[in-house]
Amino acid sequence: MKRIYLDHAATTPVHPKAVKAMSPFFTERFGNASTLYSYGHEAKEAMENARSKIAAFIGAKSSQEIIFTSGGTESDNFAICGIAWANKNKGNHIITTSIEHHAVLNTCKFIEKREFKVTYLPVDEYGLVDPEDVKKAITDKTILISIMQANNEVGTIEPLAEIGKIAREKEIYFHTDAVQSFGHIPINVDELNVDLLSASAHKLYGPKGVGMLYIRKGIKIVPFLYGGEQENRRRASTENVAGIIGFGKACELAAQHTEEESIHLASLRDKLIRGLLGKIEFTRLNGHPTKRLPGNVNVSIKYVEGESMLLKLDGKGICASSGSACTSSILEPSHVLTAMGIPPDVAHSSLRFTLGRENTEYDVNYVLEVLPDIIKELRLISPLYREKRG
Ligand code: PLP
Repeated sequence: MKRIYLDHAATTPVHPKAVKAMSPFFTERFGNASTLYSYGHEAKEAMENARSKIAAFIGAKSSQEIIFTSGGTESDNFAICGIAWANKNKGNHIITTSIEHHAVLNTCKFIEKREFKVTYLPVDEYGLVDPEDVKKAITDKTILISIMQANNEVGTIEPLAEIGKIAREKEIYFHTDAVQSFGHIPINVDELNVDLLSASAHKLYGPKGVGMLYIRKGIKIVPFLYGGEQENRRRASTENVAGIIGFGKACELAAQHTEEESIHLASLRDKLIRGLLGKIEFTRLNGHPTKRLPGNVNVSIKYVEGESMLLKLDGKGICASSGSACTSSILEPSHVLTAMGIPPDVAHSSLRFTLGRENTEYDVNYVLEVLPDIIKELRLISPLYREKRG
């Protein structure tokens, strides 16, 4: 059976060119980038080359503003705790949203236990944050605003430039979790007035276990890991050289293809959305109709459990998600859909398809061919559906 992968927000396959670029750094060029002989120099040079590519990709002024980490989760933890600890004499208030990834939400919960106060802003029915709410939440104790660029579940793209302008005017640091948007929509840290930005390689056809935190020059941050002097003494531990090379290559490829790829994905996305809404009754689109990531489709197909749909789709060779991959083992309705005002039963019937580079019209047509029958079958045994139909 052909397998159709439609879960690119969970992770992406590593691009063959990134694998090729990484490969020598596992074998003949295996050096530790901190060593002083040629092996070390080779590794260091390749790593700095990757750093420069990533810096250029987001319009950073200097490659020294990029700190490599182990992924998006670490970058989010580092940004929030690092800024909080470095500024605790100035204030103890942080603003975020109720739809952030748990890498941000749980870090906020952690610092709340350490005398910080966190405001979790609401979102509208599409998952959008209102910049006016950000303005209103600011107090003279606010030291950081952390708002994601695009949501991982519903793909809604937040008004970052407007929020960044507010943060800049009030001289408050602005962090964005760009894990889902990085490599998929254009990012310029100056245009967005972003001071710190988290990204992860495995969401843009790079390897897992490597990410980065952009930290604007001049910003004081307390390190998150202590040990050696790597990454300008901001992040100890021997660098994941091969991973970093793969990350750099993935960025280089994204820079070449973001625009055409986004047009391709948006057209597949819109075809899939139209098809699902047209072919399956009691289906609603979750997230913003236009301000959304090019590859994201999130729908609620009422009166059917998300997990049952996933199992049936898997039986047909289709990989999708019923929420964020990181929380799919928890059977609570998604905090994102709940924050958007979607009732728990409708949230439980959500299905997320995230399209990627290798997907074609054939894949979309196949979903549209098999899913209506799966829903018919599942609704036959759904007490809620029978109740609805009388
Ligand atoms: N932030 C967002 C928005 C994500 O979607 C994810 C992963 O899905 C993360 C952070 C965590 O990234 P990582 O898996 O690299 O730790």
